[in-house]
Amino acid sequence: MEYPPLPAGLATRLDRMAFASWVSGPRSALAELATVLAPSDCVFCQAPDAVMCPACRSAFRAATVRPFEAQAGAEGLPLTPDGEPLRVVAAGAYSREVSAAVLSFKNRQRVSLARVLGPAMAGAIRAAAMGRPGPVALVPVPSSRTARARRGYAPVDVLVDWVARRGLLPAGVVVFPALRVLPRPPWAVSEQKTKGRRARSAGAAALAVRHGHMVSERPVLLVDDVLTTGSTLARAYRTLLQAGARVEGAAVLAATAPPRKDDHIPAVSPGGAAPADTPVPGASGGLAHGVRDAVT
Ligand SMILES: [Zn+2]
Repeated sequence: MEYPPLPAGLATRLDRMAFASWVSGPRSALAELATVLAPSDCVFCQAPDAVMCPACRSAFRAATVRPFEAQAGAEGLPLTPDGEPLRVVAAGAYSREVSAAVLSFKNRQRVSLARVLGPAMAGAIRAAAMGRPGPVALVPVPSSRTARARRGYAPVDVLVDWVARRGLLPAGVVVFPALRVLPRPPWAVSEQKTKGRRARSAGAAALAVRHGHMVSERPVLLVDDVLTTGSTLARAYRTLLQAGARVEGAAVLAATAPPRKDDHIPAVSPGGAAPADTPVPGASGGLAHGVRDAVT
């Protein structure tokens, strides 16, 4: 598909608008608009004219359609009162397609990828909430202030919002943005820049419960994008625990440690549990060209 060239300077002006400090709420919409006006190539294979081409979408979907329990691969996760690591359900492993999509969504303003990542996020949330009784608060892990300022949006919030707006949250699951990042004194920021990665992660921004968000005695599921060591979820867990919440688990898009043999969770659909051996289009065929993706 051919696109007419942008009028001279428009792309630059859109860029500047999207990153200007006076635009905060509408920034992701502007970024989306800029993507539409200046179409990008597939974030994985660089096929032209689609932010993710149909073949790569199928591969992404195949990689994220079988949620698994990912807590065994993350040694930084907190232990729950019963002595077990916090249960974390990942939509998929952090494969090459998945990391390309997640990183482009987070760091390259490819906000339109929400419709590719959203169904995977919904699947992880459904699997994490499956079988538990009663209502549960879904609490997104907030981005750091600097990351949010740099991107102009909070990727996890955008995904959770996408899932909620399409009615893909399981019954009883309510989005509850109870956490915020505490501001850091300027000396802490400059000190941190001179230190290594380990020190930076140890000095990661502190979290707090948002004013007016009652979490005491409330069952909570955390939600984040990628599980690596689990230290980010651990910070969120401790903050909520101190406020009296009952954190029951977490859902993430992807986990960097691949699933072991018994980690997979039987497939769930919005209407209930499906047999574990339900064939998944594209799941075994790698880049399944021509498979109609549910994602549009
Ligand atoms: Zn592609």
